[in-house]
Amino acid sequence: MTRVLLAEDEVRISAFVQRGLRAAGFLCTVVSDGADALHQAQSGQFDLVLLDVGLPELDGFTVLEELRRTHPVLPVIMLTARQSATDIVKGLDRGANDYITKPFKFDELLARVRLRLRERPADPSLELCRGRVRLNSVSRRAFIGETAIDLSAREFALAVEFFQHPAQVLTPTQLFDRAWGRGSDSSAKAVGAVIASLRSKLGPDLIETVRGAGYRLN
Ligand code: CA
Repeated sequence: MTRVLLAEDEVRISAFVQRGLRAAGFLCTVVSDGADALHQAQSGQFDLVLLDVGLPELDGFTVLEELRRTHPVLPVIMLTARQSATDIVKGLDRGANDYITKPFKFDELLARVRLRLRERPADPSLELCRGRVRLNSVSRRAFIGETAIDLSAREFALAVEFFQHPAQVLTPTQLFDRAWGRGSDSSAKAVGAVIASLRSKLGPDLIETVRGAGYRLN
């Protein structure tokens, strides 16, 4: 059964979402402050996190930032009361996979939960191997032979995309959507910068540029 962690301090909302998720066949655990949210999210017992921005103890952005240090691929959807573009960008920048603005319809939330669950790697603890390079999502490291290389959350997320779609051309927009979440105008530039740093860490020939189309794992 799919396990969802819901971090939300407004009882009215958490009760409504929990009821809906249970009816849709999910296991749903509710926490109401940021410290609990972080602790639970890091337990490895959840398949997806619904994370409110305005939480007591630690706000949702801080929880997300901390969580991404140890769990770069766990799907996180931010719940924000604010329509503010800065809030949305802030969440996506810190590694949220998606966001939903309150008030929302439960069906929309459910659709996003399902979408994000479909996109996740089948087994997030799995090692992905291509040629001499291995990616380990537990340690969020790449290995070339026995040499461990630390990657940032973004670098790791992009590397996972390439490793899961070998020999396929991935457009900057696709890569941006998968690793950053939806929406921004500077996607191509941001993707280019992370690819440059991946090349410098993992080898200049690992990811090739396909002119006018995107990038491909070599
Ligand atoms: Ca709140």
